Amino acid sequence: MFLPPSDNGHEDLLRRDRRVLWHPFANLALWEREDSPVIASGEGVRLTDVDGRTYLDGTASLWVNLLGHRHPALDRALLFQAGQIAHATFLGATHEGAIALAERLIDLAPAGLTRVFYSDNGSTAVEIAMKLAFLYQRHRSVREGKKIPATFFSLDRGYHGDTLGTVGAGGIERFHQVFGPLVRPSVTAPAPDCAHCPAGLSRNACRLECAGMAERLLESHREDLVAVLIEPLLQAAGGMIVWPSGYLARLAEACRNRDIPLIADEVATGFGRTGTLFACEQEGVSPDFMAVGKAITGGYLPLAATLVRESVYEAVREDPGTFYHGHSYTANPLACRVALATLDALESESLLAAIPEKRERILACWRSLEEAPFVENIRAIGLVAALDLRHVDGSPLTDPGTLSKIREKARAKGLLIRPLGATLYLIPALSSSLEEVGLMARILADTLWESAGEGLFTRTP
Ligand SMILES: *Cc1c(COP(=O)(O)O)cnc(C)c1O
Repeated sequence: MFLPPSDNGHEDLLRRDRRVLWHPFANLALWEREDSPVIASGEGVRLTDVDGRTYLDGTASLWVNLLGHRHPALDRALLFQAGQIAHATFLGATHEGAIALAERLIDLAPAGLTRVFYSDNGSTAVEIAMKLAFLYQRHRSVREGKKIPATFFSLDRGYHGDTLGTVGAGGIERFHQVFGPLVRPSVTAPAPDCAHCPAGLSRNACRLECAGMAERLLESHREDLVAVLIEPLLQAAGGMIVWPSGYLARLAEACRNRDIPLIADEVATGFGRTGTLFACEQEGVSPDFMAVGKAITGGYLPLAATLVRESVYEAVREDPGTFYHGHSYTANPLACRVALATLDALESESLLAAIPEKRERILACWRSLEEAPFVENIRAIGLVAALDLRHVDGSPLTDPGTLSKIREKARAKGLLIRPLGATLYLIPALSSSLEEVGLMARILADTLWESAGEGLFTRTP
């Protein structure tokens, strides 16, 4: 193959990238013509590209970074473990990091979760919960002489990953519809997007209506359901939908009353993003299964875990005796050590207590947008803040070109964001300072006012 000369500069790397790479969730035609950053290094909440330009990491590197880039204690943990061993199989052998991390997770998780099964990404952590829930239900049904249930219950606009099992439980049309013929569909209830009620109900009336609808579906399908699978409090990929308080507790109670297992997908919400270590805590919910990933290693390495109740372990131990599922890098020692250091730092730096003040700072910087005709539904939970864009005539803004221009403008001002459709959001690392979150929020607001001034939100018929 002929390879032209390279200088490893921005243009050169992008040209080579476009020839050999395929990026996830990228519109291919747009990627081929957009000027994307080529990241070279990072420090705290800032990323630096190969040309030396720095950017604020407004998405925490897509929700994984928790304590900033190049955190000294995380770097130390990684180097320490690299000095021992980088990886050895977890099939038929064990190691201290995996044991200590499992003990720690069990200690921190909602009560009743006593067993940890490791994998290496959020999709597999959820898929494992789905498979284990099935084995558990199968065991119970055989013992009680009942039909074995084989359908999951999930929510509209839910996102649980990109493996085929989790795609079956997904509810985002743009991502999931095309794979419909390949997957087993789940029973789907509406997302409690009650700030935005399509029927125009008040927030509280909408919450009651959504909960009632979910309960009726649970009741009519109770014999067929393996488990209820949800993202507690925040449906992130579905458009940063913040649940009204009370919905989670009521859904959990509806599951308990019907003896249907509850799987909490805390892959996005876990480790403090919503203000508590796990979102379930806020409504006193103890799920039967909990999937975690993303921020578990502070955004350093791929690691995920599925936590389950002892009764699930016991059921599988009895029959089939073996869980035939595993990954080559299960319980990677580097990742386990960095995860332990992440949990230590999260505790010792008192980051959870500082979240409300930082959230308020973002919302204060967005106050000017509250009355803007091109913005609706400003919302926040923990250290996640979001708003939706629309045209000034109130019609939905869907043109990817416009959204790409807005992203470019923010980048030119030193902020990296990644809109979800017309939803713009900030998920700063929990370690961001008040000044840094304020700066991110102000750049975003300035970007939007400037875009409005240029007529980007005026619909051209
Ligand atoms: C990101 C995400 C996943 C998938 O995790 P990956 O590590 O990207 O496979 C699953 N569930 C939720 C709620 C997520 O946000």
